[in-house]
Amino acid sequence: MKNFTYYRPLTAEQAVALLDDKWGTAELLAGGTDLLDLQKEYIAQPDKIVSLRDVRSLSGIRATPQNLTIAAGTTLAEIAAHRDVRRLFPALAAAAGDIGGPQIRNMGTLGGNLCQRNRCWYFRDEHTPCLLKGGDKCFAIDGENRYHAIFTQGHKCVIVNPSTLAPVLIALGAQADVFGPKGSRKISLAEFFHAPSSASEREHVLAPNEMVMAVTVPAAGAKNASYEVRHKQSYDWPLVQAAVAFQYDNQRAKNVRIVLGHVAPVPHVAAVAAKVLEGKEVTEATASAAGEAATEGAMPLSQNAYKVKLVAVAVKRALLTAAGHKKYWEV
Ligand SMILES: Cc1cc2nc3c(=O)[nH]c(=O)nc-3n(C[C@H](O)[C@H](O)[C@H](O)COP(=O)(O)OP(=O)(O)OC[C@H]3O[C@@H](n4cnc5c(N)ncnc54)[C@H](O)[C@@H]3O)c2cc1C
Repeated sequence: MKNFTYYRPLTAEQAVALLDDKWGTAELLAGGTDLLDLQKEYIAQPDKIVSLRDVRSLSGIRATPQNLTIAAGTTLAEIAAHRDVRRLFPALAAAAGDIGGPQIRNMGTLGGNLCQRNRCWYFRDEHTPCLLKGGDKCFAIDGENRYHAIFTQGHKCVIVNPSTLAPVLIALGAQADVFGPKGSRKISLAEFFHAPSSASEREHVLAPNEMVMAVTVPAAGAKNASYEVRHKQSYDWPLVQAAVAFQYDNQRAKNVRIVLGHVAPVPHVAAVAAKVLEGKEVTEATASAAGEAATEGAMPLSQNAYKVKLVAVAVKRALLTAAGHKKYWEV
């Protein structure tokens, strides 16, 4: 690991003042479950590390009748266990509770989860000069790409966004409170993520000297669920995830949102699939139809066509779970 100077600011103002206006030279440190790995692998080599552990305003979950605000420093374990999160947003509680294992969930934070770097093995290999490290080639496009994107159109780099909280928060209509040198701004989670293709970009739209302060989720009474297809039940990322949210009036689904994770460089909003379900009762047949529709536009790579089928299954199961159907796939 390259030597660095370690800072422990007490306020968000002090923290952002320590950041630089370009990526790479200074990094915020929350739980460290991603950043320290990146440093040890020489993928991140910052001169300054700005720890957020003493910034008081970054902790806690606040509920009002209208919404729930989760501070960026809240751990994944706290989110998964929180009474109001479990009651209002089972999708979020389930997604947070399925991440990694207890060690990761007790250290990892909401802000770090949204801003973690992708898991592409070419990106994570110190010796491979991929696009995101200043090279001129995405090695996954013609290489080992079984865990990469299947919605690849228009993308020079075929990573998948690694956050399993992201699809859920987008489906729930959440927004991030962001703080930087110019003050505060709000970003809808639907617009928070970005498909990077060079070393000067990240997987999100934050400026290098901005930070996430909190995420606010509207308590709109939507039924919601997240279903992940995993190779292993712990210590790994899902192969495919479907997060769904909808109002259910008189057994009719309204304002349907279906968001897919781990299939594209940014969480993939499956608008066509949502339309298929809009105004209908959630049954096995309609959930299946929405699942099939969610695969529309998939352009898999040489080794990951299997994910297309997983998308259809994940969407169907997420919809049935949210509507309260008995989970026939759990014996
Ligand atoms: C074995 C394993 C399995 C995992 N499985 C999953 C999974 O299934 N799903 C999933 O979503 N994740 C998974 N993860 C990733 C894990 O969720 C993240 O490592 C964790 O959430 C990062 O949080 P952190 O607080 O430790 O971030 P850090 O490592 O401290 O930071 C990560 C990045 O976020 C930036 N950052 C941190 N806080 C802020 C902030 N407030 N504002 C702006 N930038 C910030 C940092 O500068 C850094 O670039 C897994 C990790 C491991 C090791």
